[in-house]
Amino acid sequence: MLNARLRSAKTSSLERERALRASEERFRLLVGGVQDYAIFMLDPTGHVVSWNAGAQRIKGYTADEIIGKHVASFYTPEDVAAHAPERVLKTARREGRVEVEGWRVRKNGSRFIANVVITAIYDDQGALSGFAKVTRDITVRKQAEEALRAGEARLAGIIDSAMDAIITLDGEQRIVVFNDAAEEMFGCRVQDIVGHTIDRFLPPSARPNHAEYIRAFGATGVTNRSMHSPGVLVALRADGTTFPIEASISQVDAAGQKLYTVIIRDVTERKRAEEALTQQTATLKEQAQLLDLAYDAIMVHDLEQGTIALWNRGAEAMYQWTQAEALGKSSHSLLQTQFPIALQEIKAIVAQEGAWEGELIHTRKDGHQVTVSSRWALRPAETDGAMAILEINRDVTERKRAEAERAALLIREQTARAEAEAAVHTRDVFLSIAAHELRTPLTALLGYAYGLQRRAQRQGGVGEREQRGLASITAQATRLNKLIEALLDLSRLQLGRFALDLQPTNLAALTRRVVDEVQSQLELHTIQLEAPQEVQVRGDDLRLEQVLHNLLNNAVKYSPRGGTIQVDVQQGLGRVFLSVTDQGMGIPETELPFVFSQFYRAANVDPRRISGLGIGLYVVHEIVTRHGGTITVESREGQGSRFVVSLPEIDTAAAERSDGDRPAVDNIPNAADEQTTSA
Ligand code: ADP
Repeated sequence: MLNARLRSAKTSSLERERALRASEERFRLLVGGVQDYAIFMLDPTGHVVSWNAGAQRIKGYTADEIIGKHVASFYTPEDVAAHAPERVLKTARREGRVEVEGWRVRKNGSRFIANVVITAIYDDQGALSGFAKVTRDITVRKQAEEALRAGEARLAGIIDSAMDAIITLDGEQRIVVFNDAAEEMFGCRVQDIVGHTIDRFLPPSARPNHAEYIRAFGATGVTNRSMHSPGVLVALRADGTTFPIEASISQVDAAGQKLYTVIIRDVTERKRAEEALTQQTATLKEQAQLLDLAYDAIMVHDLEQGTIALWNRGAEAMYQWTQAEALGKSSHSLLQTQFPIALQEIKAIVAQEGAWEGELIHTRKDGHQVTVSSRWALRPAETDGAMAILEINRDVTERKRAEAERAALLIREQTARAEAEAAVHTRDVFLSIAAHELRTPLTALLGYAYGLQRRAQRQGGVGEREQRGLASITAQATRLNKLIEALLDLSRLQLGRFALDLQPTNLAALTRRVVDEVQSQLELHTIQLEAPQEVQVRGDDLRLEQVLHNLLNNAVKYSPRGGTIQVDVQQGLGRVFLSVTDQGMGIPETELPFVFSQFYRAANVDPRRISGLGIGLYVVHEIVTRHGGTITVESREGQGSRFVVSLPEIDTAAAERSDGDRPAVDNIPNAADEQTTSA
């Protein structure tokens, strides 16, 4: 129908035809030389009726080749199949103008992206006379645009998936890009920050210099540099906390506008790790120093071979092998270790319990042996998986030697003591036997001497010389008898055969009796006695008499001729006190503590002038103590001595109250722990 209308227009108006031709001519002249645009005309049915240089250049056809061909020649087969050419022309006819972009095909089959503007042309009567079509090859631009879009997307992707914070600032140092990592790192959202300066992410102290730093960087023209600071670079989070960072800055000129991009990495973790490492290194150094400070030999070796991996100064000093000599050697063979049990057993214990302790004998470099107290502990070796032994050895050679010496000494002492005790026992037994054996003939001797003396006195006929001789025999034999009695007492005490026959007794009467007896034998000394009528004690009469005899004899023996001896019996506080005081030579103060010891004789006594055994006071002390009493001495050298015996008094009233079977001795307190004191 369209063709019919055009045909009718042609035939109907020659004038119009001419006008069209003129117009086409003008058009041809105008567009003919245009190179960048394909400009051509289509008749109302879409056939090419004109062709310019641009069309030839873009589409590859010469005018001869294409004029008369349908516009569909330029479309892809797919578009043709979809009736795209007809649809476009229809739209152009309806709308007057249509602009489309799409793939077109050149003569040689290659494709390009075209921007096509089709304008419907009408004659004076308003009838469609054809189409003007202007086509531009926009492939390059499209591809560039496409590439740019892809690039931007890719870049945006990179920026947003980056682990580092990426912040781009414009020429006025205002934030234009703030990626996801930056949001997370600084704790704020991009919308709150775009357009602001970067100052809010710097600690206040860093702010004044920062803008100037960036400006100066801009001026250098250097494209990229890492940012430095005298210390660690620190950034500020929105919540006010700070963290260490590493940052680099780059700059680009975009359309005359400077853009700075700062890439920031949070190095908190790394710094922490670095610090931990530094600290660990320091600790290790310190440990090494400590190891070297120790006097103990410290070594590390593997469990199997004993190969030495650590050897401290203490080990160098103890074994004389230097670290260089020891490392890598087997400790067992280097030190010729002597183990208390099989090494295999030790290994088994260490493997099972993680530790072992014992004594080892090591040989030093110079061949000397060292006894060490050794501690082993299992620990992981430096090399993966393996186990090592930490061995700490303390030199106990000296201690061992000292211990052995002490033990030997102890044994020697014990032996000596046993021997001494045996000797003392033998002596005591001998003493006992000897004394008994001596006493029998001596008693007989004394009996005969007395008998002779008495007969001579009665019958006369014996010269004065013989009389003196007999008296002397009696006196010496009596003295000998006393000595033997003293020795017998001593041996009885030593052998535990010293028995007492304790009975209630009147100590005052006993004292009077002994004093009278002794006084009767004295020519030059006077004994003064002060005693109550009766003082009851529980005692062995003979032994108590022996005590008094001893004290009186000593008082006579150790005081000058003509001296007075004072004897007192007193009672008080449930005790009876019997004291013997002389004005003799006295006892040196420093010797007083030993007066009651066996065989003691004071230093101020000349044994050639005054005979004695040093047994008497010892026996006296024993007797008094066994009576539940005490004996004390006060003395001053050159002035005299006083011996005081204290015995528990029997409460006579209580004794009378009690029935006859009940012995009064019950009232005697146990005085075994009463102290014997010296003045
Ligand atoms: P002996 O008189 O046989 O030496 P004793 O055991 O009786 O032994 O006395 C021990 C020592 O105590 C005496 O040797 C003497 O030195 C000293 N001694 C004892 N009694 C007196 C005293 N009354 N005056 C001075 N010294 C005394």
